Amino acid sequence: MELALSLEFQNYVAGGWCSASSAARFKNHNPANWDEIVGNFPASGRADLDRAIASARSAFAEWRLVPAPKRGEIIKRAGDLLTQHKEKIAHLMTREMGKTLVETRGDVQEGIDTAYYAATEGRRLFGYTVPSELPDKFCMSMQMPIGVAGIITPWNFPLAIPTWKIFPALVCGNTVVFKPASDTPATATRFVEILLEAGLPPEVIQLVHGSGNAVGMPLVEHTGVNLISFTGSTEVGKQISAAASKNLKRVSLELGGKNAQIVMADADLDLALEGVLWGAFGTTGQRCTATSRLILHEAIHDRFLGMLIKRAEKLRLGNGLEADTEVGPLINFEQRERVAEYVKIAKAEGAKLETGGEPFATGACKKGAFFSPTIFSGVSAQMRLAQEEVFGPVLAVIKARDFEDAVHVLNDSKYGLSSSLYTRDVNAAFKAMRDIEAGITYINGPTIGAEAHLPFGGVKETGNGHREGGWPVYDFFSEVKTVFVDYSGKLQRAQIDNR
Ligand code: NAD
Repeated sequence: MELALSLEFQNYVAGGWCSASSAARFKNHNPANWDEIVGNFPASGRADLDRAIASARSAFAEWRLVPAPKRGEIIKRAGDLLTQHKEKIAHLMTREMGKTLVETRGDVQEGIDTAYYAATEGRRLFGYTVPSELPDKFCMSMQMPIGVAGIITPWNFPLAIPTWKIFPALVCGNTVVFKPASDTPATATRFVEILLEAGLPPEVIQLVHGSGNAVGMPLVEHTGVNLISFTGSTEVGKQISAAASKNLKRVSLELGGKNAQIVMADADLDLALEGVLWGAFGTTGQRCTATSRLILHEAIHDRFLGMLIKRAEKLRLGNGLEADTEVGPLINFEQRERVAEYVKIAKAEGAKLETGGEPFATGACKKGAFFSPTIFSGVSAQMRLAQEEVFGPVLAVIKARDFEDAVHVLNDSKYGLSSSLYTRDVNAAFKAMRDIEAGITYINGPTIGAEAHLPFGGVKETGNGHREGGWPVYDFFSEVKTVFVDYSGKLQRAQIDNR
């Protein structure tokens, strides 16, 4: 039986909170207890989006002229408000998508760190001044706002990922139409409330809830939107890239991963064990950077595997709001079926199931989308389990002959987001930094974890070459303008009059 509808949430369009024009709604469930409804949200469509985009376009005329340091001050206040409300937002996020409170607090903290970085970026947004090849001529480049930014985000980092995109978009002087994942619309709504409370002018941000088909793709296709920043699956990313290319729209894509941790024979095995447990089973394996392949040097393979199984079997599953829970539920039952399907596939391919492999539905977990931490050994690099993103607590263990073989196996993937090597050999560490094909490489740390002030993103089918976090994202949200001032008082022709 469902509990009473707890909260009616709204879109934020054209400076006001409102329902979808069709009045249609969808429910958001707690994945640890499906009977609990977190909220009831507008199922928006094209008409809502049109209104939001028109409003964001008109707001751009003034917002682009607000000095960037002033825009940064609003983001700074948003960071202060996130700090003040961190605990409440973390609780809401855990109810909405299941990860443990330790992790949802970390998600909010990432938003806070991103805010404080973005706030100061308003005082940088550097251009260049360079000498001219002609006398009495001044040359520079400037970072200019672009227009309306369409932001489409996934559910696994419901606050951090929107902040990675929206704070830089705003600091750079763009207005925003935000379509959050329909599995985490409540956290997204709280975030927009905080931006408004921080002093963001009302029409600079628009929040439109709804599905990928009804709101996401129309946002990508809309001629009133200048750029799209998307994080989600590679499958949807390819559709977005194709659709956006019709108008030559600028697009940033942060997509899937199949991240691997290598453990060499000389590694600190206890440290590597902590790393893989956190990397593979943190956020129930539902991170784009989750460790889903473990590549073990043959000399320590059996011993390390034994240590790992013992610890994985002790992980406590439960509601993420409870202090002793280590692994929360999957996002929904559809995802649990998908994970179960991969277990079947792996068995059929000949991998050996060492532990887990089944939904976990005992005691307090019976109404949630839980799945036991699962480890397969005897996986070969070509099996689907080693190639496809499962997005669940399933680890594929692959044996490697030596360092070169391990790096070869790691690189044998269409994805290239995060990677990790545990070793005490400094030469191997430097070779790995050079030879691993990934946007992120950790030495003696797990594949998961990002810092707000460093670039984040991947190679191959993990993205299209852009980076979030740190300084590069400000280039994505800005147009470069080159300016020449000729104060010679005569016509000077470049490449002609200086010869
Ligand atoms: P998803 O691709 O299903 O959805 C992401 C967002 O796109 C949602 O808001 C969704 O409503 C929207 N969407 C869905 N179909 C659409 C369409 N046809 N057109 C436009 N928008 C559409 O992904 P998800 O299940 O929310 O998230 C999990 C995926 O995200 C995994 O593949 C994971 O690896 C990836 N991810 C990547 C990163 C990264 O930075 N590389 C970070 C987190 C998650």
